[in-house]
Order: sequence, then C-alpha cells, then structure tokens
Amino acid sequence: MGLRTVVVVALAAWLGWLLARGILRRAVPWIGIAVIAVPLVALFWTERQWVGAEQRFTAIARSIAPGSAGVHCQRLGETFTYAGADLGRVSYAEDGSADGPAMVTYETCQHLSDYWRSSAAEKDAPPLEQVIAVHVLTHEARHLAGDRSESETECRAMQSDADVAQRLGATPSQARALAVTYLISVHPRMPVAYRTTDCRPDGPLDRTPRDRLWP
Ligand SMILES: [Zn+2]
Repeated sequence: MGLRTVVVVALAAWLGWLLARGILRRAVPWIGIAVIAVPLVALFWTERQWVGAEQRFTAIARSIAPGSAGVHCQRLGETFTYAGADLGRVSYAEDGSADGPAMVTYETCQHLSDYWRSSAAEKDAPPLEQVIAVHVLTHEARHLAGDRSESETECRAMQSDADVAQRLGATPSQARALAVTYLISVHPRMPVAYRTTDCRPDGPLDRTPRDRLWP
C-alpha cells in the first residue's frame, strides 16, 4: 500500500468520524470537515490527472510495444523510496520478457505531461527537459518491446522519437526538430554504454537503410 493510499484512507476515516460525531451531537464541525476535505479533493484530483497521463503514455508505448503493460508514472510518495539515477526503468522476468509496466520517474512524467499539454506554439521550442522526457518514453517503450542492449535501445528509440512526439500533439516538423535536438544535444553526452558506431545513417541499426532519412 502506497503512502498516498494510507493518507487518503486516514483522511477519509477521519472525515467520516467527524461527520458521524457531528450528526450524533447535532452540531456538524464544518471547519474541521473543510480542513480534511480540501486536501482529500486535491489528492483525488492530482491522482486523476496522473491516471489520465498514464493512459496516454501507455497507449503510445503500446504503439511501439504492442501488448505490453505500458507505463507507470512514479507518484510523489514513491520518490522518497527511489534511490536510482535512471529516468525510466523496465525490469525483466527470468524468461527475458518485460516484468510489468515501465517505471518513469515523477519529474520525467511531469515534463512529459507538460509537453503533452503544451500549446502548438510552445511545441515550437520545448525546453530540453521535455525533449529528454519524450525520449525517455520512447526508450522505455523499446525496452518493453524486448530490446535489452542500451545502445541498440537508444538508437532505435531515437528513430521513433518523432513519431512519439507527434502522438503527444506535435506537428510533423516540430516532431522531427525534437528528434534532431535529442540526437545533437543529448545523445552525445550519454554514457558509452548508450552509444555505438552502428548507430548512424545507413548503418546496421538504421531502420530505413539506403535513404537519407535520419534519425
Ligand atoms: Zn535503457
């Protein structure tokens, strides 16, 4: 049971107790009820926002990894127990298949939601953290599809970034610009394990060899 669930159950129980006591005493403590109800409503509202975002990201991940468990956005409560440095993570079962949904960190999911909900004009020049967040979604979807090598996953993901950006509302030219920004500004700074000389136009990992399209 997550921290959020504990908080919601405790607040709801307290709310019920206050109401029941108020009705019995024929004096409902409205201030006390407001103090509990307001954060309760806020918690439900943010949870609904997260569930909506997860459904969207899951649908996009399944366009790359059909039949996969999709995406789980880390909640604020989970950040306190997460010590990893990865912005996303897929764990695997013994048979090598993905074991559950891809985890995407709280901050990365926020950047991803911000990109998704941003206006057409804002998508002309998204902040770098949003570009990275879009790529994290693509990268984890490639892992869900069964890619284990980081460099191959990364290379195939870069060739799907434009498609994913379009599914998040970008125009074809905005989507292509986002993919190129990642390729030029972020990918060269990734650790060695994430890079390979096979990842080049018309190279072994080029999805559409013998054309000039890259990524
Ligand atoms: Zn990876």
